Amino acid sequence: MQQDLLHRYLFDKLDVRGELVQIEHAYNEMIANHNYPEPVKALLGELLVATCLLTATLKFEGEIAVQLQGDGPVKYAVINGDDKQNMRGIARMQSEVSGTTVKELVGKGYMVITITPTKGERYQGIVPLEHDTLSKCIESYFEQSEQLKTRLWFATDTTQGKAKACGLFLQVLPVDKQKSINDFTHLEALSDTIKREELLELDANTVLTRLYHEDNPRVFDPQAITFKCGCSREKTITALVNVGQQALLDDVAENGAVNISCHYCLKEYVFDEQDIKNIFN
Ligand SMILES: [Zn+2]
Repeated sequence: MQQDLLHRYLFDKLDVRGELVQIEHAYNEMIANHNYPEPVKALLGELLVATCLLTATLKFEGEIAVQLQGDGPVKYAVINGDDKQNMRGIARMQSEVSGTTVKELVGKGYMVITITPTKGERYQGIVPLEHDTLSKCIESYFEQSEQLKTRLWFATDTTQGKAKACGLFLQVLPVDKQKSINDFTHLEALSDTIKREELLELDANTVLTRLYHEDNPRVFDPQAITFKCGCSREKTITALVNVGQQALLDDVAENGAVNISCHYCLKEYVFDEQDIKNIFN
């Protein structure tokens, strides 16, 4: 696999749109050094793929956050991204992880999709987590909120340093209802033949040819997906100002410096006594 890419495609005669996502580098960077249990890595991989697919589907300019939150061992898992497919993500545990399904990991809870457009109103969609898999949760989100029949297939491999997260997406186009449902059913049956290994190992062209060669998918230029945290020393300073000078100087006296590490990328920002004084001067 060369690059992390999102491919969008339409079909000549079928009222359905499709997307294929294959992510390696961004996924490895996202989970590196976090020591997540394997099922949590896999969940974050699926959530990353889902966020990329949703970003391409919901069409907005701005930022998106897709968060799972509940009373299970995984207190929350979130991917933050934008329309340029810059992504970062994190999961927080509150107890020992057992099981692999969304229900076993997140427990009773919700999926919250928040879109903050560059211009215009913030939008939030909330769906209860009522299914075992993330794909089923997102499919029912589209059925409930937009009455659009949707299917997702995920495949993840959490091998250290060689992790991969991939996904396939189909959705009816809101044109002629009966025709688009028939078209969807046809493509869904074809897509269902995809094997996990194929989604993970084959390049996008081969996957699409293998699945849909008789239906002429028209594939648009792919969009690159990147891991980008967005944290900076400047943003850290803005947060420190709220803590107050004296509390920070106390911290320096006790620990030698103020150490702030980014929850997402684990990058460390260190401030010594002079740095603190400069911030407040
Ligand atoms: Zn960061």
